[in-house]
Amino acid sequence: MPMDANSLTELGVKAIRDGVAAGDFTAREVAEAFNANVAAASALNAFIVATPDHALAAADAVDAARAAGEALGTMAGVPIGMKDLFATRGVQTTAASHILEGFEPEYESTVSANLWKAGAGMLGKLNLDQFAMGSSNETSYFGNVISPWRRNDGGNAALAPGGSSGGSSAAVSARLAPAATGTDTGGSIRQPAAFTGISGIKPTYGRCSRWGIVAFASSLDQAGPMARDVTDCAIMLEAMAGFDPKDATSLDLPVPQWEAGLNPDMRGKKIGIPREYRMDGMDEDVAKSWDDGIAWLKDAGAEIVDVSLPHTKYALPAYYIVAPAEASSNLARYDGVRYGLRDLPDGAGLQDMYAATRAAGFGDEVKRRIIIGTYVLSAGFYDAYYNQAQKVRTLIAQDFAKAFEQVDVILAPTCPTAAFGLGDKTSDPLSMYLNDVFAVPASLAGLPAMSVPAGLNREGLPLGLQLIGRPFDEQGVLNAGLALEARAGFDAKPERWW
Ligand code: GLN
Repeated sequence: MPMDANSLTELGVKAIRDGVAAGDFTAREVAEAFNANVAAASALNAFIVATPDHALAAADAVDAARAAGEALGTMAGVPIGMKDLFATRGVQTTAASHILEGFEPEYESTVSANLWKAGAGMLGKLNLDQFAMGSSNETSYFGNVISPWRRNDGGNAALAPGGSSGGSSAAVSARLAPAATGTDTGGSIRQPAAFTGISGIKPTYGRCSRWGIVAFASSLDQAGPMARDVTDCAIMLEAMAGFDPKDATSLDLPVPQWEAGLNPDMRGKKIGIPREYRMDGMDEDVAKSWDDGIAWLKDAGAEIVDVSLPHTKYALPAYYIVAPAEASSNLARYDGVRYGLRDLPDGAGLQDMYAATRAAGFGDEVKRRIIIGTYVLSAGFYDAYYNQAQKVRTLIAQDFAKAFEQVDVILAPTCPTAAFGLGDKTSDPLSMYLNDVFAVPASLAGLPAMSVPAGLNREGLPLGLQLIGRPFDEQGVLNAGLALEARAGFDAKPERWW
């Protein structure tokens, strides 16, 4: 069945892969259609660089393999967006920071290499919050991404696509890519997915190799897929994950067949509803969508159980100690010697060069995190802040472990509100940080967690529901996501104004 370019860009990962394999269309036609959408969407600023030739080359290789009767990979013919936090050989990799501008790695991240091996191609490098620090994509050196979504009030206020994977979320929801990589340190896959009506999963810490991903907070950073639906996330996560001896925290476990294991039947499953997430003054639409989610999972056969995660209120403060502490250590490598930018004032010595390079190269939010991080790690304050935060982290992990003695999966909202306006929170970092209040606990505990679209709020903006699972139980999370997805029937998409 011949398809026009507009219908091809409506397809997701599975439909593209299966259509290419069946000969309904070629991988090249798909790559061309998405390349055209990327080129026509510069107003969204979702990509830092487009790499149409990479997408075409990968597509041609798939078409040739098919013609030769060779076996095709699980992502064969699927062009994707790559968050610009993944090192890609010979293609500028910036973490959306001036300090890495012009850096072309000599190596490929393990996750991206896995995706290319599975037959995917690269449409370009996606914009993000600088060093993945942020919740709105406004800390990018390359300018913020604009969400393709608008409120239904007739105005056209520019909205945040979420962050830090804001280029990924905008690109997937605007049909510039059928899927994209994200990374999640404290919500950066789930929150932008929720803001833009797409799905995204952060797997168990260690599932995806961190090798070749620009480090933010190494004990929290995890890569994961962002795509239009749960099945596409399962397919892509399977391609991304796997043991990697080059990452000391990589899980030495086989990758389960998540796609083959998808099953939305929730009979016999217990779903936990964490009491502490129902906050005073909770947004009414968010509370309603949570209630919808509960009803949908009940309808799928699950038993609903109240659970308590008593240390929830300490998660955000602990995160904002642990993450900056690790960031301050990780970012010490950007010194003007080894990567990207070098600012060497006339007659300056080595120390002056470090200082000048960092002053010019790091954005304000990155500097704020480095200052917080060095402070909480300093001799006089280490015990009071960093050590305390580590203890709180353990308590949070224990809260979850206890809850998972009673239930299989936990259901909560992904975010306290729908997307906010660009500029609304830039002057108040605490209100920005509060956005991640529901996302951060699962990060601190290293648990798999997913966001799926649940519906629209009264302003016509997407809301996401979050599913949190036991360690290594991505399958349980994906299956509950599938049960929700089938009942939410979410098919809204942004109107094309760009
Ligand atoms: N918004 C959070 C932060 O700024 C989480 C970011 C992330 O997960 N990369 O730290």
